[in-house]
Amino acid sequence: MGFFPSKIKLSLISAILMIHLPLSAFGAAITDIRFWSAPDHTRVVLDSTAPIQYQSSPQEDPAQYKIELTGITSFPKKKEIEVKDKYLLKISLIDLGKGKVQLVLYQKTSLQANIFALKPDLGKTHRLVIDLIDVGQEKKEQEEREKQKEIRQKGTKIVVIDPGHGGEDPGAVGPRKTFEKDVVLKVGEKVVHLINQQKEMKAFLTRKGDYFIPLEERVRIAREYGADLFISLHADGSFNPQVRGSSVYCLSLTGASDQAAKLLADKENMSNILGGAFLRPASLSKDPNLNQILLDLMQNNSMKESFRFAELVLNETKETHPLKFSTYRQANFMVLRAPDIPSVLVELAFITNKEDEHLLSQSVFQEKMAKNLVNAILKYFK
Ligand SMILES: [Zn+2]
Repeated sequence: MGFFPSKIKLSLISAILMIHLPLSAFGAAITDIRFWSAPDHTRVVLDSTAPIQYQSSPQEDPAQYKIELTGITSFPKKKEIEVKDKYLLKISLIDLGKGKVQLVLYQKTSLQANIFALKPDLGKTHRLVIDLIDVGQEKKEQEEREKQKEIRQKGTKIVVIDPGHGGEDPGAVGPRKTFEKDVVLKVGEKVVHLINQQKEMKAFLTRKGDYFIPLEERVRIAREYGADLFISLHADGSFNPQVRGSSVYCLSLTGASDQAAKLLADKENMSNILGGAFLRPASLSKDPNLNQILLDLMQNNSMKESFRFAELVLNETKETHPLKFSTYRQANFMVLRAPDIPSVLVELAFITNKEDEHLLSQSVFQEKMAKNLVNAILKYFK
């Protein structure tokens, strides 16, 4: 028997433990479960108050992927989520007792699983991400993109439109909860539709739905298509709700043109962290045929062409919407780094401004902005 009544002793012990043990030692509460459906994978995300300890068991039944989560203090009431996308039927949580919870992913087909944890960042909690990838489909999509390059007729120009953000990364959010990721996809689809009505032109999207693609992969997709022009579409955000207008950005290899451009590039580059980038081996491999001198030459030429296109976009856009800056700005945007493809990033308007948010969510405005871009593209290729 010790000196202290047991209650005091216990709180003393927990006070000591608090100092020495990380939060995860006390377990993690699962606060939310989400999923995102992409053409070649389904992503399942668990939000939690601390990192989740997990162990995945070898699949006895290929149609069920089971992961045992330990130290779970609580989890959402709804223990079953219907998915019914291309790859998953449902997700369920089974309470095994003593803080153990089994996560079961009911697959429609055999998939490759990639599990990784994301730390809290910019308002996001701890997350456990499970990507279930259809490796065959991933490869097929890549081959189909590369085929476009081969079958294109001489003189046909290829434009790749990149709707920013997606999935876990909503981008900037408006006062009426309009998401940047949604409006840029809408505008992107309109641009692609309009371009594909033109003769000797073809357009493709990097992202066709609400899922995330790492920034490097967006560049790789453009190169696989053999793009002659790459446009990344965004909507700006600011703490100041008065700020509004459109702006256009190009890459800078030597530092940003101004502090605001640098901050914007930092923010856009955060997308990988927010969206949960998991680099596939293909994203890491460099093309062995490209040497540095050649790369520099190509980059120089691509950048000059990007500036020319950026001016054309500004000229067209100002007919529809006030410009935030009358000239293009430059900073180190990861998504503009294809050395051989002229690339620009367009901030359509400020989603954090009430009027701009209203416009961005209107299909009339989306259509006008899309037309402006297409006009600029036509002039660029002339
Ligand atoms: Zn953005």
